[in-house]
Amino acid sequence: MSQRVAVVGGGPAGLTAAIYTARAGLETTVFDAGEPILARNAHLENVPGFPAGVNARTFLEATREQARRAGVEFVDERVERVTRADGGFRLDAEEAHEADFVVAASWPDVSYLDDFELERIERGSKTMLSVDEFARTEVEGLYAAGRVARQYHQAVVAAGHGATAGLAVVEDSDEPIYHDWVAPEGYFTGRDRDVPPGCVEIDEAEREEREAESLRALSAFAAADPPTMHPSVDDED
Ligand SMILES: Cc1cc2nc3c(=O)[nH]c(=O)nc-3n(C[C@H](O)[C@H](O)[C@H](O)COP(=O)(O)OP(=O)(O)OC[C@H]3O[C@@H](n4cnc5c(N)ncnc54)[C@H](O)[C@@H]3O)c2cc1C
Repeated sequence: MSQRVAVVGGGPAGLTAAIYTARAGLETTVFDAGEPILARNAHLENVPGFPAGVNARTFLEATREQARRAGVEFVDERVERVTRADGGFRLDAEEAHEADFVVAASWPDVSYLDDFELERIERGSKTMLSVDEFARTEVEGLYAAGRVARQYHQAVVAAGHGATAGLAVVEDSDEPIYHDWVAPEGYFTGRDRDVPPGCVEIDEAEREEREAESLRALSAFAAADPPTMHPSVDDED
């Protein structure tokens, strides 16, 4: 049975962490309590790859779909508490779930981790977690990524830190990894090298098929919603 990863939070950090762990073959579930804060953005103009920016709701939904395609399961519930169980973790949402690894990628409120001795950083009403350079906390098997790990308050920084956390989980798991790379046929084998773990080689027909599917998938995200407002702003006329 493959090892299980629970990601708490479905913003850019959590979704990206989950994409990496699922692609490496780990059974990955994202728990999300509601709306990622990026849904409030009016127009997202500093994420690479979008010359004229992108609707932030489109960006989030496309990233969620990317995670689904990688095999990620979603539980749209708040995680109330995480505790140790059988060498791994137990997560209490509406039901109890178990995991071998937990990635905290929530808002900067970590009351659900009160059972653990963790170095906390208080910033006004926010509580963040201290992590090492690979997003590991002091608790074995527990990682933190994005805003809750005191990263810059920017979507691409959160996503990149989520990738770091996801790769650290893979490195600490039983799945072997070199890099998550898709290479053209012969890139390794043409030099009499084995394809390293985590990498694949695809031939030209497969490449064309994947490229066509990527264009079809993008076109599904043409329609987009307007931003949501901060809850403390009175939106009545
Ligand atoms: C108005 C506005 C405009 C912005 N514009 C930009 C911009 O132009 N460019 C840019 O780069 N950044 C922008 N940002 C910042 C950007 O949105 C954040 O830095 C980024 O979303 C942080 O990502 P994250 O994944 O760390 O956290 P979040 O996106 O906050 O995601 C955390 C997720 O955790 C979930 N969660 C929290 N607690 C729990 C729990 N106990 N159980 C389960 N789920 C939980 C929440 O539902 C949420 O979905 C903007 C932010 C705002 C508010």
